[in-house]
Amino acid sequence: MGQKKKDTALKVNEGIQQPPSINPAFAAKAKKRGKKLLDTKQYVDGILSGDRFMLSQAITLVESAALRHHQKAQEIIEQCLPFSGNSIRIGITGVPGVGKSTFIESFGSYLTQKGHKLAVLAIDPSSSRSKGSILGDKTRMEKLSSDDKAFIRPSPSAGSLGGVARKTRESIILAEAAGFDVVFVETVGVGQSETAVHSMVDFFLLLMLAGAGDELQGIKRGIMEMADVLMINKADGENKERAQLAKAEYKNALHLFPPAESGWETKVDTCSAVTNNGIENVWKHIEDYRDLTKENGYFEHRRREQAKMVMYESINQNLKDHFYQDEQIRAMIKDTEEELLNSKISPFNAARKLLDIYYERKGK
Ligand code: GDP
Repeated sequence: MGQKKKDTALKVNEGIQQPPSINPAFAAKAKKRGKKLLDTKQYVDGILSGDRFMLSQAITLVESAALRHHQKAQEIIEQCLPFSGNSIRIGITGVPGVGKSTFIESFGSYLTQKGHKLAVLAIDPSSSRSKGSILGDKTRMEKLSSDDKAFIRPSPSAGSLGGVARKTRESIILAEAAGFDVVFVETVGVGQSETAVHSMVDFFLLLMLAGAGDELQGIKRGIMEMADVLMINKADGENKERAQLAKAEYKNALHLFPPAESGWETKVDTCSAVTNNGIENVWKHIEDYRDLTKENGYFEHRRREQAKMVMYESINQNLKDHFYQDEQIRAMIKDTEEELLNSKISPFNAARKLLDIYYERKGK
């Protein structure tokens, strides 16, 4: 088996230039051997027995761009699916510096001490654009990383937000099959990734700061509207009073939002990830939410809706890819665009022309 991968890879190290290998043929062979795939059953059995190394390996396959890895990953997922779903999936977001990693460390340790098994996954679209990553560029969650009840996996490092989100969804299934009963999906509160996270979790937690005057600190209204709980972090020391004030202000602001379909009223609370003050209340809110929505059926309803959405998204994506990758379309699309810009063809007819060619080719 290949070298054991560290579960603590949230730390991104600068690569160093490697000297050229002495014998490239040997190196290639060794590399191939290291990447040898196991039988699907071996991965599945490993995951179901809670083997974190196997889980980690399977997630690596999910994240791989290689076709044979992708196929293997799909087989593993299919077989793990019946054993998945038994967790509470919690999305955690907030602007950089709000204290996400400190909070996850504190809240996560609280949960593992209570006997929960916790998986922490991350969605970080920044890591695909710039080489550095907002979530991964520092040593994070050291305590949780060495906690044997926790499994921490950084964001897949490449791909579009859609691609990264799909991989995270699949990783959730595998983590659940491995017995993790609480799953955190962490993201940075700076872009569209919150919507992606919201579409794969049961509960959405927004971390905030008590900002002096600037209460909304760039967090868009839409994101606040998605939140099931707003936790005002860093409510310690001199900041405590300000946090209480902010709590009252946010509560007021939330009154202006329409009531949620879940029947749940968004909670606002304060905590300190450093002193652990108020951390246990986070879990209390989540449990209350779970009890309410399991009782009124929203919990299952939301998961079914999410699953449906994934299916349709996946069809849409596939059709689009197929169309745009078609040789003839690729050859013609620029010229058609040119015709359009020179007012020789209307946008509708331009689209029609390309689609007709595509369908004609498909019909053959
Ligand atoms: P992230 O960028 O959202 O992951 O934020 P970090 O967890 O890295 O925290 C950013 C900074 O805020 C660090 O210096 C933390 O020590 C500090 N911090 C995080 N949580 C708290 C808290 O509850 N109270 C105080 N006083 N500082 C905190």
